[in-house]
Amino acid sequence: MNWQTLEAKVSECHKCSLAETRKNVVFGVGNREAEILFIGEGPGSEEDTLGEPFVGRSGKLLDKMLLAAGFSRAENIYIANMVKCRPPNNRDPEKDEVEACIGWLRAQTKLLQPKVIVCLGRVAAQYIISPDFKVTQQHGQLIQRGGTYLMGTFHPAAILRNPNNKEAAYADLLKARDMLEELNH
Ligand code: URA
Ligand code: SF4
Repeated sequence: MNWQTLEAKVSECHKCSLAETRKNVVFGVGNREAEILFIGEGPGSEEDTLGEPFVGRSGKLLDKMLLAAGFSRAENIYIANMVKCRPPNNRDPEKDEVEACIGWLRAQTKLLQPKVIVCLGRVAAQYIISPDFKVTQQHGQLIQRGGTYLMGTFHPAAILRNPNNKEAAYADLLKARDMLEELNH
């Protein structure tokens, strides 16, 4: 499957009940040849309206921090979410919704073949890295799995709630960048 076919399929997906309340499917954004993939939780209200991940308040903060670390969605990263449709009232996605949707993220990951994957927040980190992942304790750790390095860090919304986390989250981004550089040498 290529990107175009995949995107067309996801845009018509009705595999879970989030399809009934969404305005737009939020497929993902960025360079489809990027070496690093960032995974959020699910679209919020602005994302649902615009059809693009991380375009609201958390997204603005994320972009600023990414840019300072040398990353931008226009150039060298790809960003996607665990679920492609907005959970009503910004609740966490349910387990069955993540399970219905995760195949799309796997297909994106297969096409992208990232060297590093950064999970933004608990929902992504617990699903992708390990079910008992604790962001406050394990953020920034690089875990090698089958030729890919995985890392969990703070969700930008968690940084907005508690700005004390910002410095640590930024250090994690730098660590991910350094890992990529090391892998390319
Ligand atoms: N939060 C997320 O996890 N993803 C988005 O796309 C926006 C906010
Ligand atoms: Fe399909 Fe995922 Fe949207 Fe559910 S959240 S309808 S599985 S694209």
